[in-house]
Amino acid sequence: FEILKKQDPELFQTITQEIRRQNKTLEMIASENFVSPAVLETAGNVMTNKYAEGYPGHRYYGGCEHVDEAENLARERAKKLFGADYANVQPHSGSQANMAVYFTYCQPGDTVLGMDLSHGGHLTHGSPVNFSGKLYNIVSYGVKADTGRIDYDDVIRKAREHKPKLIIVGASAYPRFYDFARFREIADEVGAYLMADVAHPAGLIAAGVHPDPIPWCDVVTTTTHKTLRGPRGGMILMGKDRENPFGLTAAKSGRTKMMSEIMDSTVMPGIQGGPLMHIIAAKAVAFGEALKPEFKSYCQQIIQNTKTLADALISMDFNLVSGGSDNHLVLIDLRNKDISGKKAENALEAAGITVNKNMVPFDTRSPFVTSGIRVGTPALTTRGFKESEMREIAGFINRVISDPDNEKNLRTVRKEIEVLSDQYPLYPELLSRYVS
Ligand code: PLP
Repeated sequence: FEILKKQDPELFQTITQEIRRQNKTLEMIASENFVSPAVLETAGNVMTNKYAEGYPGHRYYGGCEHVDEAENLARERAKKLFGADYANVQPHSGSQANMAVYFTYCQPGDTVLGMDLSHGGHLTHGSPVNFSGKLYNIVSYGVKADTGRIDYDDVIRKAREHKPKLIIVGASAYPRFYDFARFREIADEVGAYLMADVAHPAGLIAAGVHPDPIPWCDVVTTTTHKTLRGPRGGMILMGKDRENPFGLTAAKSGRTKMMSEIMDSTVMPGIQGGPLMHIIAAKAVAFGEALKPEFKSYCQQIIQNTKTLADALISMDFNLVSGGSDNHLVLIDLRNKDISGKKAENALEAAGITVNKNMVPFDTRSPFVTSGIRVGTPALTTRGFKESEMREIAGFINRVISDPDNEKNLRTVRKEIEVLSDQYPLYPELLSRYVS
């Protein structure tokens, strides 16, 4: 940042403060992670300068030979990682990957069955404030009140009654595995397409420590920046590329188009223009990392860490939705603790633990207040935290939630957290150079 430091000290200052914040606090937002130095470097490379509308070998601009190679690497590595026939690495975000699926498989007004936002679903699964809820007729399923697990009877009942065109499996705040085979059965029975949105567990799936949606789903979307630990962005995968079932044919030859061709054109020119080639290059680097054996160990450690954190929290009388976790996150139901999610989030932040407030199933509080918090381990696992630190962190959370108005208590926890964090420096070169 030497050039930036001279040219724009004001902005430089915000970046150094962010380096410090990421180092001195415990990042436990379940959807965040820390990219490797190689991914970080690649995300700021000269490919940011390049317009490359189209796809490798078929661009609307000259000078694309090198970005073509980068995109091909990203696509091939993604396909290998997930055992997929098709990968589109251009979506700027997970939301745009989802939009491309809606636009490919549905017409405005069609019925879509997805997971209720207040039970863990994402905005793009049908929230009324999102394009999905505005353009489509959304029907939502949820979890069972007694188990906190997906109510498959509810899914099948609603699928039979509403005959959705598309069923979405996947969520932002669901701590358990999905039964993709069961969703396939339901989709087949009612003639629906099946999409998995694995934005959260994508890394775990790639590492083989989470059930695999690829064999069961027509299409799979993901973000690239959560457990997959790449740059911010989205991706679309298909296990098998097939002829499209919509009767769409190529203009000149009249042959039936493949789904890959249709999906590609939904992404560009359908909903995006020029792809972010520097980010696509960084995706290629991250996928290359995820193909290495170390990534599997990393994902195994995420699961171990989450289980340890869950057990420790339960032993301190915290209620976890579904009673625990299979993946990288826990959802704490704070209703037995006399504190809202909002207040818990603020108190934890003051003490140096970053989490987000989250609705719990059947929550009576508003999304701005909530009765829960979502806590994830991917970022701290990247920093090298293991089971003993997870137990220690459960203790910190307990101390903060038990006495959230006591500033001295929060200050004491914060000091202890700084000591713990200092043992696991993040981006040590940046830290020593730019943060005093
Ligand atoms: N799908 C799920 C399940 C998510 O959790 C998220 C992000 O949190 C997204 C999609 C959207 O990703 P983005 O924020 O990149 O648009």
